[in-house]
Amino acid sequence: MTGTISSTDLFSRAQQVIPSGVNSPVRAFGSVGGTPPFLTSAKGALLHDADGNEYVDLVGSWGPMILGHAHDAVVEAVREAAGRGLSFGAPQPGEVSLAEEVVHRIRPVEQLRLVNSGTEATMSALRVARAATGRDVIVKFAGCYHGHVDALLAEAGSGVATFAMPGSAGVTAATARDTVVLPYGDRAAVQALFAERGSEIAAIITEAAPANMGVVTPPEQDGIGFNRFLSETAHAAGALLISDEVLTGFRASAEGYYGIDGPGAAGVTGADWAPDLMTFGKVIGGGLPVGAFGGREDLMGLLAPAGPVYQAGTLSGNPLATAAGLATLAGLDAAAYEILGSASRTLQQLVADALTTAGVPHTIQRAGTLFSVFFREEPVLGYQDAKAQDTEAFTRFFHAMLEGGVYLPPSAFEAWFVSTAHTPEVLDRIASVLPAAAAAAA
Ligand code: PLP
Repeated sequence: MTGTISSTDLFSRAQQVIPSGVNSPVRAFGSVGGTPPFLTSAKGALLHDADGNEYVDLVGSWGPMILGHAHDAVVEAVREAAGRGLSFGAPQPGEVSLAEEVVHRIRPVEQLRLVNSGTEATMSALRVARAATGRDVIVKFAGCYHGHVDALLAEAGSGVATFAMPGSAGVTAATARDTVVLPYGDRAAVQALFAERGSEIAAIITEAAPANMGVVTPPEQDGIGFNRFLSETAHAAGALLISDEVLTGFRASAEGYYGIDGPGAAGVTGADWAPDLMTFGKVIGGGLPVGAFGGREDLMGLLAPAGPVYQAGTLSGNPLATAAGLATLAGLDAAAYEILGSASRTLQQLVADALTTAGVPHTIQRAGTLFSVFFREEPVLGYQDAKAQDTEAFTRFFHAMLEGGVYLPPSAFEAWFVSTAHTPEVLDRIASVLPAAAAAAA
C-alpha cells in the first residue's frame, strides 16, 4: 500500500514531537545514516513502507515475529480475544495457559510472572535475587544487553553498543557501584571477582547466549559450558544465576539456549545445573508487549502479596498479549524449528559465499537458529572483538541490501532474525541482492 505521506515527511514530523523521531534508539538509523522507512504493513516475511516499497524482513521486530508477520492464527487469536475485552486488571485464563506453556517447556522454571517487556523482567529478577540473598552487587558482562534497567546499562549491547555509549546518563553513582561488569567468557575474571567479593554478590546476570553485540557462542572449557560454570561459581558463593532468555527463549531452540547447553541437551554430559531465575520476552508475546521472569518456586514465592518483594503491573497478563503468545507458541512445533534451522543455515551460507566472493572479511557466529554476521575475519569472543569490526563496511552493505529490498537490523551489533515464513523463494530474493551488497561492502 502506498501511503500519501512519505517516510521523509513522517520522520520530520516525528522529530518535532518524539526525541530523535523514534521510540527506541536503534530505529533512528543513527549509526548507518539515512531516513528510516516508516512501515505501514507486514505479512509473512515481507514489509511495506509508506513510500510503496516492499522489503524482505530480517529484523522480525527484533525477535517476536518468529512465525512471520500477521500470521493468520495469531491474528485470529488476538481478534477473538479483543472481542471478549481488552484488559481486565484481574486474573484471566490466558495468563494461566501461557505460564503453564513456559513452565512445561523450560525445566528450571517452576513459577512465572508475566510483565510487559524484557526490561521489566530483568529488573524484577534482580529485585528477587537481591531480596533472596540480602546482597546488593550484580555481575553482568560487557556487551550483554538486558533492557534499559538502570543497573544493567553499563557497557551494554544493542543500542548502547550501536551508539558506542559507555552506559547512560541519569544512572546514579550508587546504582553503578552495585554493578560489576566483566569481560564475557572470562572465567579467570569471574573467579577473581568471587574470590574477592563473593559474599557481596547477589547474582550474575547473563544473556544465555549473547546476541546484542552480535551473537557470541558461550565458550566451553574442559567440557563445561560457560553458563554451567557461572551457575556453579555463583552457587559456591551463595549467589544466584539469572539467565536472560528474552532474545534466545523459544528461538535458539524449542527450549531456548538452555535446550542447547543445559543438562539433557544433545551432546551435553555431566552435572545437572540450572539457572535460578530466567527472563523471557519477545517470542512469548507473539508481537504484543510481554515479558516474563520465572524460576525456582522458593524464589518466586518471595513476590507480593505472599512475600516481601513488590512487583506489579496494570496490563501484566493482558488478554490480547497472552492470546498472541499462546498462538505463537502453538505454531512452534518441531516442524517449525526445522524450517527455522534450515532457513537460518541457508541464509548463513548465502551470506558467507557472497562476502567471500567479494573478498569482504567476515565471521558468522551462531547460537542454535540465531546468528549474526561480523565484518571482521577473527572470531568474536566478547565486546572488544565486536567493537573491532569494520562498521563502515557493514553500513555500505546495509544500504545496498535496503536498496535491493532487504531490511537488515540497522546496526552491526545485532542478530539477524528469520521466521518460518522465510521460505526458499524468500531466501532466493535475498540471494539475488547479496552479490551487489557484498561488492558495496568490499
Ligand atoms: N534482554 C535481552 C537479552 C534483550 O535482547 C532485550 C531486548 O532486546 C531485553 C532484555 C529487553 O527487552 P525489552 O526491549 O522488551 O524491554
